[in-house]
Amino acid sequence: MSRIAYVNGRYLVHADARVHIEDRGYQFADGVYEAIGVFDGRLVDGGPHFDRLERSLAELRIAPPMARRALEFVVDEVIRRNHIGDGFIYFQVSRGVAPRNHPFPAHARPALVVTARRHAFPDDPETLTGGRVVTQRDIRWERCDIKSLALLPNVLAKEAAVSARAQESWMVDDDGFVTEGASTNAWIVDGEGTLVTRPTSNAILAGITRATLLRLAREAGIAVAERPFTVAEAQRSREAFISSTTQIVKPITQIDDAVVGNGEPGSISRRLLGLYLAYARAEARACA
Ligand code: PMP
Repeated sequence: MSRIAYVNGRYLVHADARVHIEDRGYQFADGVYEAIGVFDGRLVDGGPHFDRLERSLAELRIAPPMARRALEFVVDEVIRRNHIGDGFIYFQVSRGVAPRNHPFPAHARPALVVTARRHAFPDDPETLTGGRVVTQRDIRWERCDIKSLALLPNVLAKEAAVSARAQESWMVDDDGFVTEGASTNAWIVDGEGTLVTRPTSNAILAGITRATLLRLAREAGIAVAERPFTVAEAQRSREAFISSTTQIVKPITQIDDAVVGNGEPGSISRRLLGLYLAYARAEARACA
């Protein structure tokens, strides 16, 4: 069975799907993207992801390619045509196709591409394993809140992690505070047992998994603080983990050369994964 991609109004065999060489996404990274988890064939947290997409588009003054309801229909159709049970939807909107020139083109129509992939989410908090992060300076621009296609610093940071046989790079601002990972948000459980993550601002992407985990933690009575933390504090913390749509919660048991806690995935990390999985499966059932 072939994978199917949606490209500007057409459902195409993935291997044959193409965009124009003068698409501004290709030439200038002039566009935005989203990735949304699919559990049991249903989007999880679709609403907040579409909200974030609309905000990213508005910040870059790119018109939405279609109404939200229509986009939801296309996304559901791509899930259906690819027979996705568990997986994720990726989509990107660029400013469109126009002769190469930096200013916004007068007449380009936003271009939309939607793809879907199967993905095995971590499914058992007890079998979670720990990973390592390496740290490096955050060299990105001042609008990391926009989910822009321009990911070169993130790509370099992830490659640095892979070359160091680590899961992720944590990027560090000029004051020594961790901003986020190359494609994940950063968390610790501090010496008091409080779950800590950096507040949203233009310095990080407002992760949807981050927001859901904060809500689930508060509902479960876990103490939570949204405040920045340094690498040194993270290295001394009880637990650390990263969050994203595809990884949900991935425990971090080593930061550069320092072992975190007892070197094993922590109990709050495991608990949060369990809460998230229960929430995601219940949401999927509710939408069925
Ligand atoms: N930060 C960055 C830089 C990311 O690319 C991502 C993943 N898109 C995240 C955080 C996590 O966001 P989410 O939970 O919405 O996947």
